[in-house]
Amino acid sequence: MSRSLVIAIDGPAGTGKSSVAKGLARSLNASYLDTGAMYRIVTLNALRAGVDLDDAAAIAAATDEVDLAVGYDPDEDRFLLAGADVSAEIRGDAVTKAVSAVSAVPAVRARLVEIQRQLAAAAGNVVVEGRDIGTVVLPDADVKIFLTASAEVRAQRRTDQNIANGRPGDYESVLADVRRRDHLDSTRAVSPLRAAEDAIVVDTSDMNQSEVVARLAELVEQRAGVSR
Ligand code: C5P
Repeated sequence: MSRSLVIAIDGPAGTGKSSVAKGLARSLNASYLDTGAMYRIVTLNALRAGVDLDDAAAIAAATDEVDLAVGYDPDEDRFLLAGADVSAEIRGDAVTKAVSAVSAVPAVRARLVEIQRQLAAAAGNVVVEGRDIGTVVLPDADVKIFLTASAEVRAQRRTDQNIANGRPGDYESVLADVRRRDHLDSTRAVSPLRAAEDAIVVDTSDMNQSEVVARLAELVEQRAGVSR
């Protein structure tokens, strides 16, 4: 059996990362793993438990007992907390506001990184999306992509997405949230957001989604010798 192909896609919020990672998984007929959703599930769990978000020990304790499951299919959201589907709830405002604080807790990261490695190893060919996949979770990934785009472009995309999903679409507050999360994610002590030294940086500011997917498929073909 040939070795599985592992593709790491990292980058900040609003670069189109999820859509692009799913599109790439589809075009390679590979599994897809959304690690951000896992941080969102443990955040929802902590919020439901009424944990004080300034209390790292309490967040860690809540996470220790969390019962989560995620799917591999780029065409079907399957994110479970204690057996119940929370796919919609983990995208809501409460979770989005709290997730950076929860994901900065070292014990949370240690737990999720371990689960992510197990899931990736069991997935066959896989596209894994997150913030620290190429640097920490899967440093031996065959291809590492780091997506970027200006904060303004990313905020506009997220606003459009919110409106499309029937949520409020206030650009200024989305921009403030993008900047706040960028800052928290890139300055945290454990696994700050940064490109791996051997990652290929792709700026998506002036590209649409299908252009980015096509570019990544080309890069995968070059780097990993895959043609499909
Ligand atoms: O990608 P998404 O916006 O769903 O990620 C939500 C949050 O989870 C990020 O803002 C970041 O704080 C955290 N995260 C992380 N490491 C990952 C994936 C996500 O810290 N690998």
